[in-house]
Amino acid sequence: MDKRKPIFDQRLIDIVNNYIEEKDNPNTPVTHHLPPDELRQKIDLSLPEDGCSMEELYGIIEQYLSFSVRTGHLQFFNQLWSGFSFPGLLGELFTSLTNTSMYTYEVAPMATLMETELIEKMGAICRFEKPEGLLLSGGSNGNLQAMMIARNRALPNLKKEGFSDSSRLTAFISEESHYSFEKNANILGLGTESVRKVKTNDLGEMIPSELAKAIEISLQQGERPFFVGATAGTVVKGAFDPLEKIVPITQQYNLWLHVDGSFGGSTLLSPKYRILMQGLEKADSFVWNAHKLMGLPIICSIFLVRERGHLLRTNSVEGADYIFHDEVYGTFDLGSKSMQCGRKVDSLKLWLAWKYYGDKGYTQRINRIFELAAYAEEIVKENPALELMIPRSSVNICFRYLPSQRNDLNQFNLKLREDLARSGKSMVNYAHLDKNLVIRLVITNPELTNEDIDLFFDNLIQTAKSQERN
Ligand SMILES: *Cc1c(COP(=O)(O)O)cnc(C)c1O
Repeated sequence: MDKRKPIFDQRLIDIVNNYIEEKDNPNTPVTHHLPPDELRQKIDLSLPEDGCSMEELYGIIEQYLSFSVRTGHLQFFNQLWSGFSFPGLLGELFTSLTNTSMYTYEVAPMATLMETELIEKMGAICRFEKPEGLLLSGGSNGNLQAMMIARNRALPNLKKEGFSDSSRLTAFISEESHYSFEKNANILGLGTESVRKVKTNDLGEMIPSELAKAIEISLQQGERPFFVGATAGTVVKGAFDPLEKIVPITQQYNLWLHVDGSFGGSTLLSPKYRILMQGLEKADSFVWNAHKLMGLPIICSIFLVRERGHLLRTNSVEGADYIFHDEVYGTFDLGSKSMQCGRKVDSLKLWLAWKYYGDKGYTQRINRIFELAAYAEEIVKENPALELMIPRSSVNICFRYLPSQRNDLNQFNLKLREDLARSGKSMVNYAHLDKNLVIRLVITNPELTNEDIDLFFDNLIQTAKSQERN
């Protein structure tokens, strides 16, 4: 078979540009959903003995694109991220083109300096005094890194000797926190029951006095509190825990305070909304997903510590000198302070995007997202067929549709959401608030207009009305 040396030819460029352009065409469906069995029948997934031609691969790539969910589409509201970033795409492309790993300056010189610059920039935005940090593989893993630092701080011998007969370490998060804290307690050998969920108020914010109470109860039981995980932007309600009131409690009990800003961290970029995170400068660590509100391709996540030294102390081990040669550029190498060995270059895309949009571009982006979310909330409030289930804290709007026959609202709204997605018109997710199933509309794409939001509600209400008729 003719295996030419492949380069970008016109056909490939057209495939990419068509895909980018189609997302802005109102007639393009958000998704072309098929159940797994049917999808499997449409595509030849078998891996052959003899390889295929580049032409055939192009055809398969086109199929892949046509069955992918268009997350850059203006009617995609399903996750805590959406939209499309061209500088981000370029970053991904050139990251793969140059294919390297972040362990040493020697093999990733520009990327290492870019990452270092980003850590300094973001550390300064957090107002951390002597920040250190790393780009790592997601918010969950940022929460893991924070818990690991805190665990080793509480038990300094543990890194070498493992657990001995010490009292149980307990971590405190809120009822609305991300599930990764429990996963991490499992990974770290603490046990999921060591994670205590502090009560939240009506908006979903951790109640400081309940935190203090939970810590006291744990102490009375002979346990050893070591960690508090506060959240800046909870996944369902978009709530921000009151950091300023949590800081004195963690200081009083000498606990590590980590802030999970995976979702809401980017509000720091707006002078108007960063007030939601007041007190962050006194937290010990912070994770921030640039792939959510900053719109970068997944994964782009930054972990920051207020004071230098913790990352290396927690992560370094002996026996890595085959890769790290301290003699040469040791102080520049990021690898020894990372949990990972090979680590993808995520700095290029974020650095390029930041260069392109500037601080001002991101400030406008965050302000715009909040403005759009306020508009969406107003629509819900004004329409008697819609019920706002909780006041909006940031960019999440939790509501439900009220049909004229109100016997099973949960069932109705679940079906509404499924039918809407299957129609390919709009995609939005749902969640539970206590026993109520709610539609969770999340506004994360600043390219939306009010008309796009109107269209979303039109699509939803139309689908609901035809459901009512049946
Ligand atoms: C998305 C999210 C996470 C998980 O981040 P990943 O990058 O998906 O691992 C954790 N916490 C919060 C609050 C989130 O919104």
